Amino acid sequence: MEQFKQFNNEVWFVGAEMAPLAKAGGLGDVMGGLPKVLLKAGVNVRVVIPYYKNIIPQNFIEIKESYPAGRVGFGEIPFEFGIKTGITNSGIPLVLIEQNHFFNREEVYGSHGGIYGYKDNLWRFAMLAHGTAYAMSILGIPLVIHTHDWSGGFVPAVIRQTFGDKRVHFAPAGILSNSKMDKYVNAKGLRPAVIFTIHNLGYQGVYGIDDFYDIGIDFRYNSPSAYEHFGTLNSLKGGMLLSDIVTTVSPTYAKEITTPGFGFGLDGELKNLYNNGKLKGILNGIDLDYWNPKTDSLIYYNLNLKENSYKLRDYKEWRGFKTINRKALFSEVSLPLKIAKNGRPFPLLGIVSRFTEEKGIDIFLDSLFNWNDFPFQVVILGSGKDYIEKKALYLSKIHSDKVYAQIGKYDEALSHKIYAASDIFVMPSKFEPCGLSQMIAMRYGGVIAAGDTGGLHDTVSDIVDINIKEPSGILIKYLNASGVSWALNELYNIYMGSNGDIWNNMVINAANKHFGWDDSAGVYKNLYYDIIK
Ligand code: ADP
Repeated sequence: MEQFKQFNNEVWFVGAEMAPLAKAGGLGDVMGGLPKVLLKAGVNVRVVIPYYKNIIPQNFIEIKESYPAGRVGFGEIPFEFGIKTGITNSGIPLVLIEQNHFFNREEVYGSHGGIYGYKDNLWRFAMLAHGTAYAMSILGIPLVIHTHDWSGGFVPAVIRQTFGDKRVHFAPAGILSNSKMDKYVNAKGLRPAVIFTIHNLGYQGVYGIDDFYDIGIDFRYNSPSAYEHFGTLNSLKGGMLLSDIVTTVSPTYAKEITTPGFGFGLDGELKNLYNNGKLKGILNGIDLDYWNPKTDSLIYYNLNLKENSYKLRDYKEWRGFKTINRKALFSEVSLPLKIAKNGRPFPLLGIVSRFTEEKGIDIFLDSLFNWNDFPFQVVILGSGKDYIEKKALYLSKIHSDKVYAQIGKYDEALSHKIYAASDIFVMPSKFEPCGLSQMIAMRYGGVIAAGDTGGLHDTVSDIVDINIKEPSGILIKYLNASGVSWALNELYNIYMGSNGDIWNNMVINAANKHFGWDDSAGVYKNLYYDIIK
């Protein structure tokens, strides 16, 4: 290793996904959305992701430069990898780790949104970490590395073994946005500060401990204070324990994960971090330009209002927006429009989700099965666990006049159409670190029925809570089929109620909740400054 390393004044994001280049879920949205807002706020951000040649649409990126190959030994097997710099079409600078064997695949993690993950995911994401450290030795050391989830979990170890344990502490506040001070000579062998963000504790990257010796990570990190966890290798655990600050994606989830019910076996470590001020919950945002009912080109009809803050009198336009989008969606998916006795259409329930237990989609389906003759129409888009997929398809078969289900596919365009058309967006999650879908659905005037947990608790204003002034949905405390039926029934009564103003107000309240990145980007920016000053 060279003795004198230079710092550049950058913050590097490292992760497995980045919307819209390669997305499997909410992590992709964050990796695409947050850097954009940080760049606008004057932070010099770069995003490091694998070069998924099969997945990234080539017109979304411009490659700038290619650098000489790096090498890493995985056990006895040497691998070469390349580094490319580039830029996205929305102006975000990139470092692409090129390794065709590992990254030239059909999916980011494996089939069905990663539920059946590729067998060599451990090696693939260890490669991402080695590629990142090598890119730093070529492009300069960023002041802050912000790495994400278990797939970014080996980054802190590789940085420490490459640049040492002592971290940079001398950069004055402001350096991250001061382009004149572009290089610091780092004579002491310091590493950058490392921030680790947990997007979902349910995925920890757990492997056999013997695999530890095959991924080019220093053996000293095979310890309970790093990656070893009760005889297994745990990428997320090491990632968080070797970082300087850990964040997660909503304040409520940050508290929840310190308890056994939500901690997935890491609640002890998380409680320690929380009590020492090293675990913070910062709410995610959505890209308000991309998710915009006024300009979204993937939906059938755009909202025709100028203001950003809506009043009750705007409800008429919102109703038109829902009606036209529903009509077009129904004709696309061949659903007839069902009208209730009072002349109003059945409320349309929307689902866009991964099908895993945590999302509670099976509970939702059970709730509809239990209903004698449910007074809703439903459009479902999702993929994941077999038994949930089958259940959804079965429901759509036996209620083909009320339920449409598109299963087993990721379909960006259809997801937009569902957000635009749904009256009620259903998210009965058992846990939800932040959840972006409810934020998107609210922006498109949807009222939310959701589990009372994590980011759902922090973003949905509950109609049942008498202290809430501007309700935008209902939070389900007892998450089972009856709990979901109760919530849907409550919302149905409000929707059909003679005093339509309560429903109309809920739609307007939901649409007025702008969960953009601006606020959280400000919090992250301060965190970057605080950690290096
Ligand atoms: P998670 O990250 O746990 O999957 P989030 O609510 O945070 O859940 O983010 C999910 C994101 O993925 C949303 O943008 C949602 O629209 C999108 N999404 C999920 N499943 C699909 C699908 N089958 N097709 C298109 N988009 C999907």
